[in-house]
Amino acid sequence: MTYTLPELGFAFNALEPHIDAKTMEIHHDKHHAAYVSKLNAALEGVEIGDLSISDLVSNLDDIPKEKRGAVRNNGGGHYNHSLFWKILEPGGSSAPDGELADAIDAAFGSYDVMKKTFANAAATVFGSGWAWLVSDCDGNLSICSTPNQDNPKMTDGGTPILGLDVWEHAYYLHYQNRRPDYIDTFWKIVNWTSVHSLLKETKGSSCCGCK
Ligand code: MN
Repeated sequence: MTYTLPELGFAFNALEPHIDAKTMEIHHDKHHAAYVSKLNAALEGVEIGDLSISDLVSNLDDIPKEKRGAVRNNGGGHYNHSLFWKILEPGGSSAPDGELADAIDAAFGSYDVMKKTFANAAATVFGSGWAWLVSDCDGNLSICSTPNQDNPKMTDGGTPILGLDVWEHAYYLHYQNRRPDYIDTFWKIVNWTSVHSLLKETKGSSCCGCK
């Protein structure tokens, strides 16, 4: 099994002025590419069959102990960034609708409260990590954060349908230490259509809410 770097799906400069082209280029072509190559290197000689990256990060206990740390960090890096590119869109869609909007209202009361809760989770990650909007198998939503390249699937915490990378490599060139500004801007480039599709996929899967 060899994992491959997915296409970004849009030009490096497509998210400007919100995320600059140089950041996107380094983020995808260097950081994400390195997670993929280090993951493949860590898995050399390990028989895992044809496992999707989602199944790999959900079943880290099956990985030999001496390889597990590298697979957790780099497999998480691959899974997280693959999701991140999918939920970004130049121009973005303005707000969630339909079933996704209903699920947000049911869990948080309103879209604005969800955004505030998510922004707080992202702002308070100490050091490097991610903020997540997570769905359980019934489509119930919750918000959490994880350190490093961990994600909720590693702890049976549900399936992320929206994630924000708050590693400094994701924003430092343009925003320097102003992580809250980067978080604010994120809402302008979220592809809610993708998030909605991810929500539909999680229904019926075997998972639970954030732990
Ligand atoms: Mn990153």
